[in-house]
Amino acid sequence: MKIENYIRDIQDFPKEGILFKDITPLLNNPQARTECLKILVDSLKGQQIDKVVGAESRGFFFGMLLANELNAGFVPVRKPKKLPHETISASYELEYGIDTLEMHRDAIQKGDRILIHDDVLATGGTAKAVCDLVTELGGEIVQCNFLMELSFLNGRDKLGKFPIFAALTY
Ligand code: 5GP
Repeated sequence: MKIENYIRDIQDFPKEGILFKDITPLLNNPQARTECLKILVDSLKGQQIDKVVGAESRGFFFGMLLANELNAGFVPVRKPKKLPHETISASYELEYGIDTLEMHRDAIQKGDRILIHDDVLATGGTAKAVCDLVTELGGEIVQCNFLMELSFLNGRDKLGKFPIFAALTY
């Protein structure tokens, strides 16, 4: 079972010149999903995790599977004005403009051991913003994990000291 066979390249999505990695074939195959989840869980080498923090929206799929497998809480990080309770926010730069992510203020307690998950690590802006939110609330980041790292975009440089794991690297 090779999980890379379940990632599909889509040329010019969402705009021209971008080669998009489509994870929907992986989501749609239970054996590939199970294998991918195992790879992500094994990378933690038994470290205890209190909460998995998943980034909207593709970070929710495996984020929730991971939380279940690790018997941990799940915390959604969302685009602005989607979360109903009191939030904190972090902004990051895009090619043109800035984007903001939010998390519930009461979702993480000081000292919680946190696993951050998203589908793809590209430039690292999204993951860095999620790290900032977790750090602001006093969470201890055990690992940031991803289905894929697009290593040519050097996203890991933005995440500094936090441990990073990706099931696949391109
Ligand atoms: P970054 O902030 O690291 O530049 O971009 C990562 C975010 O953009 C992730 O939340 C991810 O879902 C999305 N993303 C960027 N490129 C791709 C891609 O090729 N495939 C998928 N599935 N998501 C991508």
